Amino acid sequence: MSATIIDGNAAAKEMRRDIEARVGARLQAGKRAPGLAVVLVGLNPASQVYVSHKRKDCAEVGFRDLAYDLPESTSEAELLALIDRLNEDPEVDGILVQLPLPGHIHAEKVIERIRADKDVDGFHPYNVGRLALRMPLLRPCTPRGVMVLLERSGIALAGKEAVVVGASNIVGRPMALELLAAGCTVTVTHSRTQDLESHIRRAEVLVVAVGRPEMIRGEWIRPGAVVVDVGINRREDGRLVGDVHFDSAKAVASAITPVPGGVGPMTRALLLQNTLEATELRGV
Ligand code: NDP
Repeated sequence: MSATIIDGNAAAKEMRRDIEARVGARLQAGKRAPGLAVVLVGLNPASQVYVSHKRKDCAEVGFRDLAYDLPESTSEAELLALIDRLNEDPEVDGILVQLPLPGHIHAEKVIERIRADKDVDGFHPYNVGRLALRMPLLRPCTPRGVMVLLERSGIALAGKEAVVVGASNIVGRPMALELLAAGCTVTVTHSRTQDLESHIRRAEVLVVAVGRPEMIRGEWIRPGAVVVDVGINRREDGRLVGDVHFDSAKAVASAITPVPGGVGPMTRALLLQNTLEATELRGV
């Protein structure tokens, strides 16, 4: 078997076209374009790249991108004061604070300070709680992007055995909640899981978000499984690889997301989608 490759670039492009059209329709109706505040603290090179992509995406779909580039020395109090101002600013529909933050700033405190209805990353406890209770509003971008990819690929989820490898707040945990809400029987594994391989062997839907290059080999994967690789790792030769060994997994799976070009572009597209939804939910 050779798996179908799930094309995240194509899906994300389609989403951006749809969002751009909806922004156009808003403008025609006399409404303003959605405004996304993107806050970057410090000079982390990976964060700078992510933020520049997000800003480019905003421009492409016609959003107003409000850039806040703050020095590494910004104190937690100063960042919280900025969040308070953005929370109150009627021109700001979404607030994104790029993670990781410098060590002297508590990310949880900052995330919790963002008004839940402007939390377009979907990381606020209120939004995660709503997802847990099957009443989602703003959903974390990466897991939601995975769900859009699976749906668009015509993959039925109800009743399936799903295994999530990784249990972080931003990917693994909300991913498990999404799959549970879709009717899967979900196992969540993490660094203390015993015999990871035995769990992976059961998975009809396998989502991996660990951050270890090519850790999951095809030999572990159940024949015909759908494999979603969230991991993004840069090898010493500069090549980007996922957490799944793509070539050996592709030979066993029925469908698989590549790295790059799988989940990554969807995360970016879902940020735009969440910002548009936040704008519309606020009725502006
Ligand atoms: P974190 O480091 O926050 O979490 C990693 C998770 O993997 C933890 O839950 C950890 O367990 C678990 N883990 C570590 N080692 C093992 C192991 N040997 N077996 C099973 N589980 C293990 O990472 P993130 O969730 O933020 O990101 C994961 C990957 O996804 C990274 O490569 C990141 O770059 C990528 N990513 C990609 C995105 C995209 O858009 N495609 C978006 C976000 C992230 P424990 O909880 O016990 O520590």
